[in-house]
Amino acid sequence: MVQQKTTKCSICKVKNAVYFQKHSGLYFCKKDFILSFERRIRRNINKYKLLKEDDIIAIGVSGGKDSLSLLYALNKIESKFTKSKLIAIMIDEGIKGYRKEGIKLAVQMTKELGVSLKVFSFKDLFGYTLDEIVEIARKKLPNGPAPCSYCGTLRRRALNYGAKSVNATKLATAHNLDDEAQTFLMNILRSDIDRIGRTGPLTQKLDDFFVPRIKPMRNIPEKEIVLYAHYNNIPFHGVECPYAPISFRSDIRDFINKMEQIRPGIKYALLNSGDKIRSFITVSRPIYTCIRCNQPSTTKICKVCSLFDKIGLTLKDF
Ligand code: SF4
Ligand code: ZN
Repeated sequence: MVQQKTTKCSICKVKNAVYFQKHSGLYFCKKDFILSFERRIRRNINKYKLLKEDDIIAIGVSGGKDSLSLLYALNKIESKFTKSKLIAIMIDEGIKGYRKEGIKLAVQMTKELGVSLKVFSFKDLFGYTLDEIVEIARKKLPNGPAPCSYCGTLRRRALNYGAKSVNATKLATAHNLDDEAQTFLMNILRSDIDRIGRTGPLTQKLDDFFVPRIKPMRNIPEKEIVLYAHYNNIPFHGVECPYAPISFRSDIRDFINKMEQIRPGIKYALLNSGDKIRSFITVSRPIYTCIRCNQPSTTKICKVCSLFDKIGLTLKDF
């Protein structure tokens, strides 16, 4: 019988490799994979000046692999900085049969790490669950925006509200390389170049209302996050949202994944293209007070109110 030769880790050269990183050509053992993962997050924080030593960091968690891995890694990294503080923020959109499991896992994980968790629901903040909004929208506007458009717009406001209410100075989100590549291509296909200018590693502070958002995992592939969660025994909610398959993002994700198979490196190329284009775009937008809900907005009627207007809903006092 032929003995199969095991590949050694390219970093320590001693332990057996458990992961081959295609884009770098490196093999990693478990320990060096975890170290490299956390090093990339630290590098992003330093390179883009994402955090200061005394930041109060709100982390948006969903109970999925990305957000729980970010929480776990940032908790480890930030434990060296005594002046900074982490608080997990969870948004319950009100999606029947889906969100409850994520909340359970986030509660469990934050308890284990000793990080406080605050849950904010669409129902409390806006007066409706996402399921209720989708139901109304399907009747009023059958060819209107997909559920993710309502969800994304409302969640952005809810996360900002949550971060403000815990006095956070930064809002960390768990966007990964796959998300960033998809978002860039979606913006190109929608011809939304302005948005490319606004979706970097750190959003600019437009005024005191908007908590600056940071993306410390923006260049880490989704599959490496799954591996990181696995090697650190992070239990996560792996079920897909019932609305996800009908989103534009889902089509783009399938396309990019197919292209990545044929031409490895395409996700990094999309991320880098976004960064290059962004460096040529100057974002300077006036801040208005929305004439409907009185919230600061970059348009005269904010995105939340304009979506609600179209389906005949009125926003609950925010
Ligand atoms: Fe919301 Fe769409 Fe994500 Fe579901 S898939 S949680 S509807 S953004
Ligand atoms: Zn408004």
